[in-house]
This record gives sequence, C-alpha cells and structure tokens, in this order.
Amino acid sequence: MSDVIVIGGGVVGASAAYHLAREGASVTLIDRADQGQATAAGAGICSPSNVLAAPAAYYPLAVRSGHYYEELLAHLAEDGEQTTGYDVTGILRIACDEEEASRLPDFLRYQREAHAQGASHIGDTTMLEAGEVASLFPPLAPVHSAVYSSGGARVDGRLLRDALCRAAERHGARIARASATLDVQGGRVSGVLTGAERVRAEAVLLAGGAWSAGLTDHLGIALPLFARRGQIAHLSLPDTDTSRWPVVTGFHSHYLLSFPQNRVVAGATREEVGFDYRTTAAGVHEVLSEALRVAPGLAGATLDDVRIGMRPATPDNLPLLGALPGLSNIFIAAGHGAYGLQLGPYSGALVADMIRGITPPLDLSPYAPERFVSSV
Ligand SMILES: Cc1cc2nc3c(=O)[nH]c(=O)nc-3n(C[C@H](O)[C@H](O)[C@H](O)COP(=O)(O)OP(=O)(O)OC[C@H]3O[C@@H](n4cnc5c(N)ncnc54)[C@H](O)[C@@H]3O)c2cc1C
Repeated sequence: MSDVIVIGGGVVGASAAYHLAREGASVTLIDRADQGQATAAGAGICSPSNVLAAPAAYYPLAVRSGHYYEELLAHLAEDGEQTTGYDVTGILRIACDEEEASRLPDFLRYQREAHAQGASHIGDTTMLEAGEVASLFPPLAPVHSAVYSSGGARVDGRLLRDALCRAAERHGARIARASATLDVQGGRVSGVLTGAERVRAEAVLLAGGAWSAGLTDHLGIALPLFARRGQIAHLSLPDTDTSRWPVVTGFHSHYLLSFPQNRVVAGATREEVGFDYRTTAAGVHEVLSEALRVAPGLAGATLDDVRIGMRPATPDNLPLLGALPGLSNIFIAAGHGAYGLQLGPYSGALVADMIRGITPPLDLSPYAPERFVSSV
C-alpha cells in the first residue's frame, strides 16, 4: 500500500513524486514511456516572456515557477543531482523588419514592469542594435534590432526528468514501467491496475500528459485534454561551442536555443493531428526554413535528430491542477501545453502540497479541474 501513486513520469509526474517522497510519503510512480512524451521532446525555454502569448492567468504560475527553479536545483544538488541541463543563458526577442521592430518598445516596457513587480528572474532587459545581437548568436542574419533579457534560461527536459526520478528513488519512491488504469471499488479509487497487478494507495495523481484523458473514461469523466504535436530539429555545429548562446525568439512562433557543447535546437511545429507520432516532410520543412531564414549560419549544421512530442493541451490553454470534483483522493496535474518544462516542476510541487493536505502558496483556482469537470 502506497500513500500516493503517480501515473506518468514526464517532468510533472517526476516532480510530484520527488516532492512527495522528499516529504516522507511512500510513492509509486508508474510510467508507460509513450513515444511522444512531451518532456523528452520539449525545447526547454524557461522565461516568463515566453508565456506572453498565453492567457493572463498563466502569468502568476510562470513568475513563481521561475523563482522556484533556483530552490529546486538546490534541493536536487543536496540529493546528489547536479545535471539538469538548466542554465541561465539570456533570451533574445529579435525583430527582422521595421514592423516587428515597432513592437519591441512595448515588449521592453512590459519586461521592465514585470521585473519591477517581482519577476526578478527576468534579469536586466535592454534594447540591442544589430551588431550586438550578432555577437551573441553568430549564425543569425543581420536583424533590425532585438530585446535581450539576461535572466532567460533553458533546461534539458530529459536530464531534469531523470534527475527528479533518481532523487525521488533516493527518498524511497518506487518507479515502475507499466501502463496503469484506475482501480475503482465501491465508488472510490482504491489504487491502480497494471496488467494483473493491483497497487493500492490512499491517493492517485494523474500526470499522464496528453494521455491523461484516457485515464478517467471509465469514471464517466471526460477530461478535455488533447495532444498538440510538436516536431523539433536538433542540429550540431562541429567545432563551435554553443553552450552560452541565448535563446532566440520573436520570429513567428518559432525559436532557437542551444545546449552544450555544440547543439542548436530549432522549434517547433504546433499541430492538432491526434497522437500521430511521425516526422513529416512539411514539419521538417517548416522548422528548418524558419530557422534558416533568421539564422542562415546554421545551413552547414548537421541535422542529428527530429524529435516529436505531444504537448498536453486544454481548450482554454491553462493547466488542470487539483482534486477531481467529487473524488477527494484523485488529483490531476496536466495540460501545461507549450510551457510544461518551465512550469511543470513547480506544478508538481504545488500538487504534492495539495495531496498532503497543505494549502499551496499560490491561488490555484484558475487551474481547478471544476471548470471543465462536474462532480461525479
Ligand atoms: C516540441 C515541443 C517543444 C516544447 N517546448 C517547450 C519549452 O520551450 N518550454 C516549456 O516550458 N515547455 C515546452 N514544451 C512543453 C513541455 O514539454 C510539456 O508541457 C511538458 O513536458 C509536459 O509534461 P507532462 O509530464 O505533463 O507530460 P509528458 O512529458 O508527456 O509525460 C506524460 C507521461 O505519462 C505517461 N502516461 C500516460 N498515460 C499513462 C498510463 N495510463 N499509465 C502509465 N503512464 C502513462 C506517458 O507515457 C508519459 O511518459 C514543449 C513541448 C514540445 C512537444
């Protein structure tokens, strides 16, 4: 008998399991490792400015999540985990033409206001001339101008997920590779079934990403989660140290970011095609042509990999965090869409608090499952 079963071992489930285990709960994490796990494919931009296109209700979570990364990394380091791929490299919002440049002053003002109101991890924000931009990210074509925020960061989702899982295990969590279904007895969820095995628990957390909807079908609950596919290209530049290059955004919905030692990631498509795990000609064309349009210096890079991930999306583009109505021992943390690597570690910590009966330090009502799910 566990205190808590977490279904799903992406960044959200791994974080929840880690926080629960760290606080002394007995935890079993069950993960099916689906092809298209978003965490394994996600780019990894961590910056509140990246959330500007999202609904306003995202913002408090984004600001807290940004601050929280520092605390999380310190906890992981105490637990022997130093390798997360997280680094503060700065973030550029580039303008390629006059029209895009005309929007930058507003963006600059907004960033500075947010910084003054508490989002200190945005760092210093400045307007850069074309020449200054080129020195920060050499493959870029001459741009008109750009806004640079020194606090922009990036993380490697695979490394962070694995660090969280190892640290959770170190605190006694059990991690299993299996497909879980809810075990409902007498109108109450008593645990999960993994094939023939029945695992009992006081509480169950659904952290199955875009696949979470399938978990509650037989409870008569239709969770409004769906997959938004992303195809994302991994390039390498031989003999070039890219590890300190900033994140580049601002060209349509596309972006570039870099990782040690010589990797550049170009993302990403946003497609609603269900769970279709395929690299498509149009997808690769889209990401590479956008990348090369703004950064023609990448033309000679090696195309190492195209990753495919299913972003867990909801109709209002906000996550689902909290207990399912009418079922006091079953919780959900899913639906972080394009922002789960930034927000997911903190969401995992918040939902771990809720499961332990502790009031989280942030008003979670905008993300309450009740907005979509009525009591059962
Ligand atoms: C191309 C792309 C780029 C992105 N870029 C960024 C970015 O720059 N910044 C950012 O913050 N976010 C980004 N994201 C979003 C981010 O990756 C996701 O929001 C986040 O990883 C979601 O994490 P999750 O744990 O909810 O889901 P997932 O990582 O998808 O994990 C869900 C897990 O649950 C398992 N599971 C499901 N059902 C069951 C079951 N019944 N039994 C057992 N296991 C089950 C699955 O197998 C899977 O392993 C990007 C995503 C993509 C695809």
